[in-house]
Amino acid sequence: MRYGLVTDIHSNLAALEATLKSIEQKGAIDGLLCMGDIIGYGPQPNEVIQRLKEYPLFSIIGNHDMAVIGQLELADFNHDAIDANVWTRVQLEPENLEWLESLSPKAVFDDKVTLAHGSPLEPVWEYLTTPHAATRNFNAFETQLCLVGHTHLPRLFFLRDNEVNRIFGFTTQKSDMYIPEDSQTIELGENRAIINPGSVGQPRDGNPKAAYAIYDDEEMTVTFYRVPYDIIATQELMHQAHLPLSLSIRLDYGR
Ligand code: ZN
Repeated sequence: MRYGLVTDIHSNLAALEATLKSIEQKGAIDGLLCMGDIIGYGPQPNEVIQRLKEYPLFSIIGNHDMAVIGQLELADFNHDAIDANVWTRVQLEPENLEWLESLSPKAVFDDKVTLAHGSPLEPVWEYLTTPHAATRNFNAFETQLCLVGHTHLPRLFFLRDNEVNRIFGFTTQKSDMYIPEDSQTIELGENRAIINPGSVGQPRDGNPKAAYAIYDDEEMTVTFYRVPYDIIATQELMHQAHLPLSLSIRLDYGR
């Protein structure tokens, strides 16, 4: 089976459309796995949810989605995010609100894959940005792989084999972090890994192109991709909706 990995779409339909087109150009997929933050920030929350649901979809919920539907305190977010979340709450169709309410921030997909928005240990809030943080998270899920989002940074963490301290005899766990390049395929083999495909709708690694990945559970590979999209189309809709200017400007820079 082949799956498209998408996360942190943040109501950016133009970015999602470019991503889906790019995925389809690379061959048939059996479904989409989505690690949350589907809405918040961008101008087209309902359209993004409807588009995702056209595919066989397994999705969890992210902190922005939770804030929009009232499951988190808005006060825990910065001003621009609060403005965007309040706007999004007004726009959201009841059926889409109900669908988001049915999701949780961490879920097991199959015998190989768990999904968690931030991290398996703290699915709502933790930002997995270092090997040290990843290491302690490998004990918080039971499958071989965990797919995450939340940082908006494409990353892959591998758990190393236990290392035995030669002097004292205790074992230590460590993990390695990789920053994948565009179109890079990584062989997973039987290694335990935490995988973040990067953000579709608001990349933050200095590259404004939408980020996604394709996971193949027979080959046991994950391939990371970047795809350009019509940033101006999203920005114009954000201006029309009076969403905060800083949120549309950052799309130009991928920050
Ligand atoms: Zn996000």
